[in-house]
Amino acid sequence: MNDCAFCRIVADEAPATKVYEDDHLCAFLDIRPITRGHTLVIPKRHAARLSDLDAELGARVFRLGHRLAAAVQHGGLAADGANLLINDGAAAFQTVDHVHLHVIPRKHGDKLRFVKGLVLRRPHDPESTAAAIRAGIAAKDQGAQP
Ligand code: AMP
Ligand code: ZN
Repeated sequence: MNDCAFCRIVADEAPATKVYEDDHLCAFLDIRPITRGHTLVIPKRHAARLSDLDAELGARVFRLGHRLAAAVQHGGLAADGANLLINDGAAAFQTVDHVHLHVIPRKHGDKLRFVKGLVLRRPHDPESTAAAIRAGIAAKDQGAQP
């Protein structure tokens, strides 16, 4: 096992509030969220940078980000939109060297709350937040076309 914080989360060797997991991917709440429901999507296989990431796996990461962007709008979080973002490299403010896609729920008129969240980065009741996102994923999956 390497000393990567996100690999330890994948291996359940470090705590995290997971909202989704499959054979390839894991999604969990950001420990210092900008907004309620701020989630990180990661490939389970370690890749420090986008240049280390298999393109197919990158597509899976984005596909899950796409689902989560819908889930935060359809579940209890009732977001109106989301920012999806990858910081690739230290020059782009990447601080954890394991590729991660940020999914940051947004509400209409939340500009001031967003800026405050960017400064304070305080957690919001992780368990109820994660439950709302899981419910959103389930609601979207039920309504999904085959
Ligand atoms: P970045 O600047 O894109 O590398 O962002 C890294 C993100 O990972 C930040 O938003 C951190 O709050 C978040 N983070 C760091 N360690 C953990 C952890 N152990 N569990 C959850 N989120 C984390
Ligand atoms: Zn890793």
